[in-house]
Amino acid sequence: MSWNDIIGQNRAKKYLQRAITEKRIAHAYLLWGPHGVGKDALAIEFARTLLCQTGKAESCGKCPECRKINALQHPNLKIIFALPASEKDSSSGEEKMKTDVQSEVREQTEMKARNNYFHFAIPHATIINIGSVREARRESSMTAFNAGKKIFLISEAELMNEAAQNALLKILEEPPADTIFLLTTSRKELLRPTIISRCQSIRCDVLVEEEIEAALREREQVEAGQARLVARLANGDYSRAVDLLGENLVHLRETAVNFLRAVAVGKPVQVFEEMDFFLDSDRKLSEQFLLLMLLWLRDAMLVQEGKDNIVNVDQAESLAKFVQRFKKAELSATLAVVERSLELLRKNVYLQLIFVSLAIQLQRIFLHER
Ligand SMILES: [Zn+2]
Repeated sequence: MSWNDIIGQNRAKKYLQRAITEKRIAHAYLLWGPHGVGKDALAIEFARTLLCQTGKAESCGKCPECRKINALQHPNLKIIFALPASEKDSSSGEEKMKTDVQSEVREQTEMKARNNYFHFAIPHATIINIGSVREARRESSMTAFNAGKKIFLISEAELMNEAAQNALLKILEEPPADTIFLLTTSRKELLRPTIISRCQSIRCDVLVEEEIEAALREREQVEAGQARLVARLANGDYSRAVDLLGENLVHLRETAVNFLRAVAVGKPVQVFEEMDFFLDSDRKLSEQFLLLMLLWLRDAMLVQEGKDNIVNVDQAESLAKFVQRFKKAELSATLAVVERSLELLRKNVYLQLIFVSLAIQLQRIFLHER
């Protein structure tokens, strides 16, 4: 990993690199912006560069310090994130992490090391509690053991509860020497203004589709068609894009198109039976299903207009066939109905109601106008 492996974020990168070349490192930084755009990745690269033995604005990636950061095993870089409540040790009375949580943390840290865009999600972990911040304070005062800069990355800092935020504020008010706090958040408004004011704020931008598409092809070896489709669905969020790779979007898209075809011939019920996500009331998959349907219809309209900048690049032939069956007015009316269904889905309307009403409305469009 190096600065070059950070997707987009040129402004934030330059800001952090300049801080290093000008040797003006603040005690605390707040990297804020939308979810999944690489705030942790930026923070980790900043830490690697600060701890790298070369002391340059680019980390070498090979020295022992860099290598420890690559594995996220550097004693001077601690990542703080939400954990489930700890349990009291029955003999000593000390707070202790449960063993299943320990192994989960180890596993997810390895995943984060492999992919800095990985998003920590320890089961039942909703807050960063004061214990984590106190530990940071204790470690930052142990100068004798590990010399050099100590860096604490507080990932999703908004998850700190009030006590944790108060404890952090106390540290930031009298920052220990050679200690740097890197806070990342997509919900800055949940942090105390007094914490924000003590940090150098760096805004991170949403990623553009082309950046996500290129990153998927280079890093995950995704083929062009899928990369473009996933980039479009990810909505500027690279973590989400990587998650989407694990899902069978091609199959889901096929089901969405079959749904349209079945409605057009007045037989939507058959397709309902194939829609497991809908039968299981899976809202996330239902949303993807509707988005895929929407992208398909938009492409169909583009094909009808003779344009070739479609998202479903691997389906050009199938789209051309699809378009022959529908009039332009039908397609645009269909698009509006699907958009409306997506809105209802996001408003938490009952899934069955959304899909049945979608089928009825589509059928009305297709059967009346032909
Ligand atoms: Zn190095």
